[in-house]
Amino acid sequence: MLEEILEKDKQSFEIHENFYNLTITEVAEYLKQNNYSKYITTQLFNWIYKKNQGDINSWTNVSKKLKLALQEQFSFDIPEITTTLISIDGTAKFLFKMQDGEVVEGVLIKFPDRLTLCVSTQVGCAMGCSFCYTGTEGFKRNLRVNEIVGQYLGADLWLKKNLELYSPLNKITNIVYMGQGEPLNNFLNVKKATLNLMEPQGIALGQRKITLSTSGLVPQIMKLNDFPPINIAISLHSARNYVRDTLMPINKVYDLKQLFDAINTIPLKAHRRITYEYLLIDGLNNTIEDIEALSELISRKTSKINLIPFNEYPNSKFKCPSESNIEWFSNELGKRNFTSTIRKSKGNDILAACGQLKSKQSI
Ligand code: SAH
Ligand code: SF4
Repeated sequence: MLEEILEKDKQSFEIHENFYNLTITEVAEYLKQNNYSKYITTQLFNWIYKKNQGDINSWTNVSKKLKLALQEQFSFDIPEITTTLISIDGTAKFLFKMQDGEVVEGVLIKFPDRLTLCVSTQVGCAMGCSFCYTGTEGFKRNLRVNEIVGQYLGADLWLKKNLELYSPLNKITNIVYMGQGEPLNNFLNVKKATLNLMEPQGIALGQRKITLSTSGLVPQIMKLNDFPPINIAISLHSARNYVRDTLMPINKVYDLKQLFDAINTIPLKAHRRITYEYLLIDGLNNTIEDIEALSELISRKTSKINLIPFNEYPNSKFKCPSESNIEWFSNELGKRNFTSTIRKSKGNDILAACGQLKSKQSI
């Protein structure tokens, strides 16, 4: 299946295209067009991704002639980390500056057994969800493939210099597309970035180590069979149309019935589940009626529910429910045989938690 996806991504090569925009098939194609052995692809992917060595001059087993040709044809820049903030819980927030000066944020989150990088896919976001800090800045532009994988590469270089903060963990183990932007609104670039993150000759992240979160773009969800088989999370936040309408404008375009018809087309391998993210907002979606609507809407067998207590930010109009209400909500779901977890907020002191990312903010 991956080969088929890669096959469709062939393209011609523009002068000064960023090398990190290319999938492994495209690198092989470039080499073929220029009469080099396709086996060199592996060496190149090893240097740029496995070793994360963007300085072409240090590539010892690549011929001088090819290095010169590559330098003439491609650029090798990745977004620059201009600011890093480290939270008391170990969460690190990076400000990534793109070549055109636009900035996005990425967040490295420390768990006992893993290091997860939360990656942005767009500058801003067009979806305008009423509870989301990112949503308030509107949409600027899509990130390119190199700007998405570049967040991983930049964070990886930073991590190598700050290993003592994360010991015994020493590499990024998971990626979540939960930073700024709606990943399915940037379908092709996020798909190619995912292929590059998964490529066995490079970073080699497993399909279960990458999660894409979407607000519910029905046509793109129906195209997920043309996407690497990673974990999918749906930002649900309410099982009642009139409540979801007030939270997420997308629900007025694709309501819950259309959303779930689309979700049912997602190819799920045996024993895999869809994650439903459910923001808990005080007085809005945290009552017994909400639980009953939820238990009618989603399947127990193929779902898990991630409860996210609303993260407040400056001037946010919503409030987080009390701890006892959050516990109660989770227990009621348990009584109805749902698997649910409560997301513990990380990096609150540096505004790095979900929904608190906004690139203009001076950090
Ligand atoms: N655009 C995608 C992915 C990025 S948002 C999406 O909406 O799914 C990642 C998650 O953070 C989503 O579940 C989103 O609903 C949630 N989120 C947004 N604002 C939040 C806030 N203020 N508090 C907690 N979670 C929030
Ligand atoms: Fe965009 Fe997701 Fe924020 Fe909605 S929650 S505005 S889709 S980033």
